[in-house]
Amino acid sequence: MSLMKGGKKALLVLASVAFLASANLYAKDFKPVIVIHGGTSGLGLTKEEFAKREVVMKESLKAGQKILEAGGSSTDAVIAAIKVMEDSPEFNAGKGAVFTSDGYNELDASLMDGKTLNAGAIAMARTIKNPIEAAKVVMEKTPHTLIAGEGADKLAKANGLEIVKQKYFYTEHRYKQLKEAQKSKEILLDSDKAKAHLGLSTEPYLGTVGAIALDKNGNLAAGTSTGGTTNKMTGRIGDSPIIGAGNYANNDSVAVSCTGTGDIYIRVAAAHEVAALYKHKKLSIQKAAEETIKEVAQLGGTGGIISIDKKGKVGYAWTKDKLGMYHGEARLGEEPKIFWPVAK
Ligand code: ASP
Repeated sequence: MSLMKGGKKALLVLASVAFLASANLYAKDFKPVIVIHGGTSGLGLTKEEFAKREVVMKESLKAGQKILEAGGSSTDAVIAAIKVMEDSPEFNAGKGAVFTSDGYNELDASLMDGKTLNAGAIAMARTIKNPIEAAKVVMEKTPHTLIAGEGADKLAKANGLEIVKQKYFYTEHRYKQLKEAQKSKEILLDSDKAKAHLGLSTEPYLGTVGAIALDKNGNLAAGTSTGGTTNKMTGRIGDSPIIGAGNYANNDSVAVSCTGTGDIYIRVAAAHEVAALYKHKKLSIQKAAEETIKEVAQLGGTGGIISIDKKGKVGYAWTKDKLGMYHGEARLGEEPKIFWPVAK
């Protein structure tokens, strides 16, 4: 009798160990995560300059992490993280957007839900305080994928988003960048300020922003928001609002957000290229990002990529001319980490 009891006990213990092991394996299989970027840089900020931006990037990661921790969707996490950076003057998105050649601020943003493959984007918007929210409106409330110009501004207003005047986007440092770019007759990425031959004097600022996330249900999402390039032609649309170029998410493979020479990223279909290399060539997410960056560089582009695969593995890559990409990641229950190019 006691033997029987002992046997049953042993079986029970075995069963619970097996259950715990499988639960553990499942937890290890993927852990919800949010990853962000704030553009690439050829320059590297000083520690003091970076500290200001680091605070915002951590806040952004925490906003996304909070949603994932509460069981929220990767799409909502991405929007929350991007909004924090759009509201900061330190990034080339929302408040801190760069100027067009005619002195306007024209904003581009996109959002993609990897579960449904629904996506929404806006381009050339001049009055939307948080372009990423307008991308969500396009995704959820219209039969379209990309709405540009006046139509985007009107749609945002009709859906109760916060509308601002152009002067909201005015920042002295971005205006100074425009003037300097006009002097040298160049169209500049934020990181291009480092070009010594231009003799530019403005303090380095961070760039386009992006966020990608994997939630507890295994759903991937990606969002990207930008003011584009300094001194771009008025009406120019970059890669950031183009699904498959600057932004992409698909639960069967990866979520990607890009930053860099948008006119080249479009031609490489860069964000989708990461997905294709991962899915069809079976490259690791890191290798897929690196290979895509090589293709961007071959066409003369510069910049970076953040990506995560469906298991939550990350892939980061940037072109060799850059010291690095300002980016960060936060897994569930872990302190957000920020990675940044070498300090001066
Ligand atoms: N990709 C953006 C654009 O070309 C710029 C950037 O990432 O800095 O509009």
